[in-house]
Amino acid sequence: MMPHTVAPESKQAGQPTITILGSTGSIGSQTIEVLHAHHPHYRVGYLTTNTRIDELEQQCALVHPNGVVISDETAWKTFREQTSFKGRILCGEEGLVEASADEENTLVMSSLVGFSGVVPTLAAIRKGITIALANKETLVSAGELITAEAQRYNAPIIAVDSEHSAILQCLMGEQQEAIEKLIITASGGPFRTFTQEQLDSATPQKALKHPNWTMGAKITIDSATLMNKGLEVIEARWLFGIGPERIDVVVHPQSIIHSMVQFTDGSVKAQLGLPDMKLPIHYALGFPHRTPSAFPRMDISAIGTMTFEQPDLQRFPCLRLAFDALRTGGTATTILNAANEVAVHRFLRGAIGFTDIPRIVESTLDTIQPAEHPSLQDILEHDRMARAYAAEYQSHHHSIITP
Ligand code: MG
Repeated sequence: MMPHTVAPESKQAGQPTITILGSTGSIGSQTIEVLHAHHPHYRVGYLTTNTRIDELEQQCALVHPNGVVISDETAWKTFREQTSFKGRILCGEEGLVEASADEENTLVMSSLVGFSGVVPTLAAIRKGITIALANKETLVSAGELITAEAQRYNAPIIAVDSEHSAILQCLMGEQQEAIEKLIITASGGPFRTFTQEQLDSATPQKALKHPNWTMGAKITIDSATLMNKGLEVIEARWLFGIGPERIDVVVHPQSIIHSMVQFTDGSVKAQLGLPDMKLPIHYALGFPHRTPSAFPRMDISAIGTMTFEQPDLQRFPCLRLAFDALRTGGTATTILNAANEVAVHRFLRGAIGFTDIPRIVESTLDTIQPAEHPSLQDILEHDRMARAYAAEYQSHHHSIITP
């Protein structure tokens, strides 16, 4: 999939520069593929990883960034000793912030996992740099602050999540006042048809097998609980300025319609495509222009049938918890996100059952009092408190976990 390499000599002044936060993750590595195949006019500022230094080395050889950041200190030391890379090699969260806010950046692809995206993304926003946002947790944890700062510093935020890219595409040429509601589609995840008993005994191995999308572990578990859809509802609220009472979720197992917008005249627009994250990544890199690609085309007659159903909030309470947190506002969504991150990691380690995830999230939300109109300090503090609570929470239910 890598037809040519971008030679360093081809870089010229005035070219747009992209920094990819989390370049060795699922979205980050697909961004490099798309960049490489379809956007050769981009220079690469920084690439960043937590520990995956072998993949980082390969990416450096392919796209010749100005610098790299390795968050983990041990991995950073190893990389420095072994690498043939000649650019800057930064370390830790400070390094991420420096890379993200670098004045040469015209675009930052924010594709870190979880809450770790908040501070570096905010640093780029405060420099007025355009953000391609793949890290939904940034808007879930700090949506009010992030969108206010983005407006203040005139930093556009372009959605990369497939649902939000779909909504963005449906909204091109439309007016804000003409939006009646957003309809976000959900695949329903690998456990869509599971009974409550099957959910109680679901394992990480089963949850990690998503029917349509290939993604990282965190988001795949979030898809299985429907928390991913809840996080996307919150993300949509901040990206498009539409309140939760005007956002619907519909389960569409084929994942062909990526989302829809209903307008005040009753008309509904949908964006369709194969379920492949390269498409929304490509759209974000070319935005606001639509540029050609060589991706596989959809054959709608081969798809044949598309079905839709209501999400089941009894079996999948995470979606309800996310709507509730959004209605509460302030740091409620910060607390929701932090508790969920901890619960998902505990589930992946085999420490808790699948249905303990919503129990932990709900108990954390019931325990920690949210702050209104939070500052970054409030957000960091509530994130920390929620994590501490969720890490200690002991379920009184005894879920059966078969390894
Ligand atoms: Mg999505």
